[in-house]
Amino acid sequence: MKKLFAAILALCMMMTACAFAEGTLTMGTNAHFPPYEYYEDNQVIGIDAEIAAAIAAKLGMDLEIVDTDFDTLVPSVAAGKYDFAMAGMTVTEERLQSVSFSVTYATGVQSIIVKEDSPITGVDDLYAEGAAYVVGVQQGTTGDIYCSDDFGAERVMQYKTGNDAVAALVAGKVDCVIIDNNPAKAYVDANEGLKILDTEYVEEEYAIAINQTNTELLEKVNAALEELIADGTVDAIIAKYIPVE
Ligand code: GLN
Repeated sequence: MKKLFAAILALCMMMTACAFAEGTLTMGTNAHFPPYEYYEDNQVIGIDAEIAAAIAAKLGMDLEIVDTDFDTLVPSVAAGKYDFAMAGMTVTEERLQSVSFSVTYATGVQSIIVKEDSPITGVDDLYAEGAAYVVGVQQGTTGDIYCSDDFGAERVMQYKTGNDAVAALVAGKVDCVIIDNNPAKAYVDANEGLKILDTEYVEEEYAIAINQTNTELLEKVNAALEELIADGTVDAIIAKYIPVE
């Protein structure tokens, strides 16, 4: 009798668990982009991870986060490998050719990191006649695309992660790193002898990339995200990771 009761109880618990999680949402990201996504105790945390978890909760789904190279995210979402990608990803015309984007939830500014004693004082120095400064970027990012367009491929060194680009700057292999402002602050805080120039390169909007054929998911994600923006959840998550100075 006891055994039967235990079995029924276990069955009920399984059924409730199923009722709460109607499947899993798979999120592709590159978890080396603090404060949006990074590792703490072997777990991916950050603004994007928390917003994604809040969206999944609203949709009654579980969230699985897959860490991969940034430049594979858009093609993988287009190929249906992940349900969506969230990676401090900027909405661009080129990406819109292959994926849909949700409403935006944050903005970023491309910033320039240099060594404290660098002769580079602003973006104009990079454009100056005869300038040969080499810029480190994260491969496939907007920083990479703008710099390659503006300065030519021979003056751009691409790295797999922002961390790797910053390590190259510390090691003197590149003259500066161009990357989104909040990750730039995190990298400068984590490394001695670096600073961010008081100059802005390009301003952009972050959104969630979703497969173009999955209009149902796009609508659901947008509805959830709009609610989370309206009720202050998104602001609270951002404030938790980016304290107002
Ligand atoms: N915002 C930049 C882009 O979308 C960088 C994103 C990232 O490196 N995770 O290209």
